[in-house]
Amino acid sequence: MEIITTVNEMQNRALQLREQGNTIGFVPTMGYLHDGHQCLMKKARKENDMVVASIFVNPLQFGPNEDFSNYPRDEERDKQKAEKEGVDILFFPTTEEMYPHEQSIIMQAVKRVDVLCGRSRKGHFDGVVTVLAKLFHVTLPNRVYFGLKDAQQVAVVDSLIKDYNFPVQLTAVPTVREEDGLAKSSRNVYLSEKERKEAAYLYQALQFGQSLIVDGEQNPAIIVEEVKRLVREHTSAEIDYVELLTYPDLSSMTQIDNQSILAAAIKFSRARLIDNIIMDKNGEVLTIQ
Ligand code: AMP
Repeated sequence: MEIITTVNEMQNRALQLREQGNTIGFVPTMGYLHDGHQCLMKKARKENDMVVASIFVNPLQFGPNEDFSNYPRDEERDKQKAEKEGVDILFFPTTEEMYPHEQSIIMQAVKRVDVLCGRSRKGHFDGVVTVLAKLFHVTLPNRVYFGLKDAQQVAVVDSLIKDYNFPVQLTAVPTVREEDGLAKSSRNVYLSEKERKEAAYLYQALQFGQSLIVDGEQNPAIIVEEVKRLVREHTSAEIDYVELLTYPDLSSMTQIDNQSILAAAIKFSRARLIDNIIMDKNGEVLTIQ
C-alpha cells in the first residue's frame, strides 16, 4: 500500500491512474478505523481497479466545543487495517497540507442541514462539503463510498455532487453494528462500561419506533415521543434529538412518507452517538444506493 501525504503527489498519482484507464474508488474517513470503515473499503475494492482511502480529521467540521483535539487517533493500526482491506493508496495529509492558508472561497450547505446534526452542529456540514470538494479534486474518484450511519451526510454529499457536477457516483453502505446493535463508531471508545451497555438501547429504541410504523402508526409525533421515552427509560444520556423526516430531503411530515428516516443523537459524558433507520411507508428497511 502506498502512503501519500501531499496534495500534489496524490493528485498527480490519481491523474496518472485515470490516464492509464483505471477506475478509482474513494473512501474518505477520519481514521481510527473499525468494521464500518472496512465495509466501505471492501465494497470499493470489489467495484474499482484502484482504491484510495483518506484519513483526515477535518478541523472545519468540528464546532468550538466539540471533540476535535480529543478525536481518537491510531496511525499504525489504521495503516494495517487499510492494507488488509486491499486499499492501494492511503492519503494521509496534515491539516497544514489541506489548509495551507485561510480559504478564500467558502462553501455553505443550505439545504438538508436545518435539522438533525445540522441543527445541533452549526457549520458542521459546511466543513464537510468543503473538505470533500477538495478531496474529490485531489483523488479524482469515479465512485465514492459513504456510510448510512451518517445518513444526513449522505444526503448532503448527494446534493454536493449534483449541485457542483462532480463526475462521481455516490454509494451508500448500510450501518455496521456491534452484536447488541450499537452502530460501530470511532467515538464508542469514549463510553464508560455502564454507558456502553446503555448505548445499545439507542438502536433498540429506534427499532421500536420502526415497529410502531409496521403496526400502522402514521403519526410521526407519537413515534418520536415513544423513542424518546425508551431512550430516557434505559439510558443516562441526554437526548440531542429524535426526528422522523422524509429521506433524503429531510423535510418534516404529518404522515409517514414513502421514504423516511427515524434518526436520533444522544450525548453521554464523553461521546455523542448517532443512529438511524431508513424505511418505506410500511416500516420496511430501505436499502439506499
Ligand atoms: P468517519 O471516519 O467517522 O468520518 O467515517 C468515515 C466513513 O465511514 C463515513 O462515510 C461514515 O458514514 C462511515 N461509517 C462510520 N461508521 C460506520 C458504520 N458503523 N457502518 C457503516 N459506515 C460507517
